[in-house]
Amino acid sequence: SKSKQRGGIASFEREMDGRYIEQQKLKADLREAVGMQGLSIAYQPMFKADGSRIECAEALARWVHPEKGAIPPDVFIRLAEEMGIISDITRFILMKACADCMTWPEHIAVSVNLSARDLRDADILSVVSEALSASGLGPERLHLEITESCLIDEPAAVRAILADLRARGITIAIDDFGTGFSSLSYLDTLPLDIVKIDRSFLRNIVEDDRRLKLLRGTVNLARELGLKIVTEGVETTEQLALLNKYRATDLVQGYVFSPAVPAQNIAILSQSLAGG
Ligand code: C2E
Ligand code: CA
Ligand code: CA
Ligand code: CA
Repeated sequence: SKSKQRGGIASFEREMDGRYIEQQKLKADLREAVGMQGLSIAYQPMFKADGSRIECAEALARWVHPEKGAIPPDVFIRLAEEMGIISDITRFILMKACADCMTWPEHIAVSVNLSARDLRDADILSVVSEALSASGLGPERLHLEITESCLIDEPAAVRAILADLRARGITIAIDDFGTGFSSLSYLDTLPLDIVKIDRSFLRNIVEDDRRLKLLRGTVNLARELGLKIVTEGVETTEQLALLNKYRATDLVQGYVFSPAVPAQNIAILSQSLAGG
């Protein structure tokens, strides 16, 4: 009916206003949380494919909102990018992650996610230097994860920054490989060390032989280019067994071994594997 329709539109508008206000409030709360160092970090370990050893742990930002509880990083990282405060988050995560890594056994590296914005200017080089020197962490223990979206803007400038970081001994990983426009040609031309195979690549590999072939082909090509393979989002023992059967990965990151955990659990977990 007509009145119902009007009511529908009015409530739609109310809802839009409500959402806009809510979004503005969330942004204000995020700004405050970032300013007060109110974010924390959970670390997800990457294991050798046989599960015998932790080689690296990825820093994943966490924000627990006082009223709304945990806000997913996909949500607040995008907000921070829109607000122009992502570099503050990256700096905080880098400083804290390097310091946390110093508390772990020496063979364990730490991996930090960079956003496309972080690679738009060379400031990132001094932030990385500061995080390393303040913590005393060796550059060989720092990994940086970039995505293809980092390369869209100014490929030449980004390439130069990556080459600089790499020349300092820092390891560069391409994240979420296999999503978006992922083209194998990036692998050849970028200063990279690691390819992180996105979990979408694992879909149906147990059931569908062609999916498995696609994964194996991609991995073989990356290896031929001298890159190390990390497979993300490995959830089941069946997936893990297949990856190992075909030696299709170097490292495994996923719920089959461990979710993201507090910093101090990395050392505990590592010790339990080493048998004391
Ligand atoms: P990502 O970098 O691809 O991180 C992997 C995400 O997959 C994490 O979600 C992790 O908890 C989740 N995951 C790990 N193992 C499994 C699994 O076996 N199955 C499934 N279904 N998921 C798994 P999280 O922590 O929610 O982070 C989401 C995204 O937010 C990250 O994706 C990354 O793009 C972004 N992000 C997180 N922290 C930061 C940060 O400090 N800086 C930037 N720029 N982005 C960040
Ligand atoms: Ca990542
Ligand atoms: Ca990823
Ligand atoms: Ca992702």
